[in-house]
Amino acid sequence: AARLKQGLSKSRNHMSKSLAGVFGGGKIDEDLYEELETVLLTSDMGIEATEHLLADVRRRVSLRGLSNADELRGALKDSLYELLKPLEKPLTLPENHAPENKTPFVIMMAGVNGAGKTTSIGKLAKYFQTQGKSVLLAAGDTFRAAAREQLQQWGERNHVTVISQASGDSAAVCFDAVEAAKARGIDIVLADTAGRLPTQLHLMEEIKKVKRVLQKSLPAAPHEIILVLDANIGQNAINQVAAFDDALGLTGLIVSKLDGTAKGGILAALASTHPVPVRYIGVGEGIDDLRPFDARAFVDALLD
Ligand code: GDP
Repeated sequence: AARLKQGLSKSRNHMSKSLAGVFGGGKIDEDLYEELETVLLTSDMGIEATEHLLADVRRRVSLRGLSNADELRGALKDSLYELLKPLEKPLTLPENHAPENKTPFVIMMAGVNGAGKTTSIGKLAKYFQTQGKSVLLAAGDTFRAAAREQLQQWGERNHVTVISQASGDSAAVCFDAVEAAKARGIDIVLADTAGRLPTQLHLMEEIKKVKRVLQKSLPAAPHEIILVLDANIGQNAINQVAAFDDALGLTGLIVSKLDGTAKGGILAALASTHPVPVRYIGVGEGIDDLRPFDARAFVDALLD
């Protein structure tokens, strides 16, 4: 919990500074609600989430008969928690993905360049290994040599095999990786893909092809399709999630770089406009800076 608070300290400081005026405001009145509205909007929560939260806080205030501004904190925490709770759907690995079944659990990773995809794959490789799972990486971002090298380094740090080709297409590399995982009885395949912008339509076709080819290597694959989303891109996040979801059918998100933003409201915006389960959040560049998303812990870290 302390590590999470540390990771979210920028957002936490922003929130506590801007909310100090609200919670210290004496009586609950319209001015106070207006101030609260401004704070929520400047935290990247977006219009929908802000309106939802305001209405919900008002409801709680009247239900509980609150009149003092300092009692608003509790109401706001409860409202935010209820909004974010549906996003909390941790990734659970099904029992039948035991190595002896030769059916690896395949996780396809998507995201625009720079979102934190490769770093998140490195963190996940460590995370799954500490859970006793064997992992194999597929260097599916075949367009950038640097991406391949970076993944290779994460593979070395984690002592896991990286399936890579100097040339060739993304889908072929991912297919080979699943075949290798089957043959070696590996539990989990983490497949990197090229990080193109979703507006580049023909490139989006490329990533759809990766999905199709993965399905050919194993009927249930990819079991997870995760978009890595940079928490710093503000309301653009919504468009990005919608575009990738349209193209691929996302099963989850990793929201990266939450430590780098003072506006941790993006999760609330997602919850009220395009909810997709937030599997993990990234709160630093280090290999251990990945956390399963826990709505209660998140709200506490932000608002306590
Ligand atoms: P990719 O292009 O999507 O594969 O992005 P990278 O994994 O290469 O990450 C881009 C940059 O973001 C790198 O400098 C990473 O160290 C950094 N990064 C990734 N995740 C996080 C995070 O959770 N917090 C911080 N502070 N930096 C991150």
